[in-house]
Amino acid sequence: MNDQDKNMSRKRKATNVYDTNFLYSPLAGPRRFNSPTPTSISEDDLLNLTLGPPIPPPPPPPLQNYLFPQPPPNSFYMPQSPPPPSNNTTRPPRNRRASQTTRQGRREEKTITPPYQWATDKKAHIHTLEYLVSKQIYTITGQVQCKKCEKRYEMGFNLEEKFGDVAKFIIENKTGMHERAPECWSNPVLLTCKFCEAENSVKPVIAGKKRSINWLFLLLGQMLGCCTLEQLKYFCKQTMNHRTGAKDRVLYLAYLCVCKQLQPTGPFDRW
Ligand SMILES: [Zn+2]
Repeated sequence: MNDQDKNMSRKRKATNVYDTNFLYSPLAGPRRFNSPTPTSISEDDLLNLTLGPPIPPPPPPPLQNYLFPQPPPNSFYMPQSPPPPSNNTTRPPRNRRASQTTRQGRREEKTITPPYQWATDKKAHIHTLEYLVSKQIYTITGQVQCKKCEKRYEMGFNLEEKFGDVAKFIIENKTGMHERAPECWSNPVLLTCKFCEAENSVKPVIAGKKRSINWLFLLLGQMLGCCTLEQLKYFCKQTMNHRTGAKDRVLYLAYLCVCKQLQPTGPFDRW
């Protein structure tokens, strides 16, 4: 283990302790559904809204407000969930399985069979944390393979604990990232093999078919950096983040976007 690995290991341990404390308590009672009243906006906040970017943003509220919030009536974070289907449309009903023709003339399926319990029928989309918890889905599993002994096996991540780690990291570091993935995302420290115990050796097995990639598993293990640039661009394309650019830029967007799908009211907008 080099110094960087040790630091990361210490950091992850520290984060776990912190997260366990806050993640489970908000679920227990109605307190987490409290939202700030309109009177909680100070004059400074209003001034910030009027004058725009030059004024630095106020410090973020405590993390638990992001993880299980009810969107406040005056929320600065616009929920990104798709609007519910309208009933008063004049268009004839369309087959949800219908395909559409792309610009290149290829016919593309609009919906897919969800490749995982935690995925939706839209390519590269996952359910929200609230939905998953309501369905008692607490562990997200995926295939991994050791680079040394080459054994392939399934492992699982605790959804709330690992999402708490990622969310906390983003909240604490987003300002300094300048819309680019930090080194620990670009070159993630891999897990230790449970068979041969080789450190930094267990890689996720990423599905050959891009529509079957286990995005949530990769996020929770902070292993999205194991994807190729092409796979990350596919994710961004399917989630309306039409981006070309260097891998650290696309990787940054992918991290924020998976978090945003999981927690639509969280602080996971690009800026
Ligand atoms: Zn091994």
